[in-house]
Amino acid sequence: MKDSISLRDPDTGSTFADEMRLIPRWSVAIAAAAFVAVQYLWWIVFPAERHHPPPPLSLRIYFALSWSALAALYVLMVGYVSRDAPRRAMSLRFWIAICLIMPGGIGSVLYFLLRQPIISRCAACGTRTQSDFHFCPQCAFQVSACCGQCYRSVSATDQYCVHCGHDLATDNAPARLRAFQG
Ligand SMILES: [Zn+2]
Ligand SMILES: [Zn+2]
Repeated sequence: MKDSISLRDPDTGSTFADEMRLIPRWSVAIAAAAFVAVQYLWWIVFPAERHHPPPPLSLRIYFALSWSALAALYVLMVGYVSRDAPRRAMSLRFWIAICLIMPGGIGSVLYFLLRQPIISRCAACGTRTQSDFHFCPQCAFQVSACCGQCYRSVSATDQYCVHCGHDLATDNAPARLRAFQG
């Protein structure tokens, strides 16, 4: 019930807040350090080397804040990818390198365009399954809740199918499905 209002990812059922919790502490710490470092460069180091008159103060504050925020976001993004790539069976080293090398955050945009579904394992036989699977491809074990009428994904806490209005209580879905939902 708790996340009935917030937006859910249709594939994984996870909310934006769940995704944010994925960002590791080290990347939050480095992001804060990067923010401070850019402020330091901007206000302390650069003015000493400048020989022509500086732009107005408001403009300088604007640039200082946007460059600092950008540097911090960059680090947070790398932290997120470092946690997100493994659960999708994507090469961690490859994607971290792409995110670091590609200029202006293009690497992270590419990552979100090309990332694979989250991989989990069938609880019955251990076969790799994707988050959008309803049944295991090897043993037909039901790995996620779905509507008994239209067979689209539903949340285990839903009373009626959000796609076709089917009464989910009449499906007699196995209780174990609740373990797979958040
Ligand atoms: Zn299976
Ligand atoms: Zn349905």
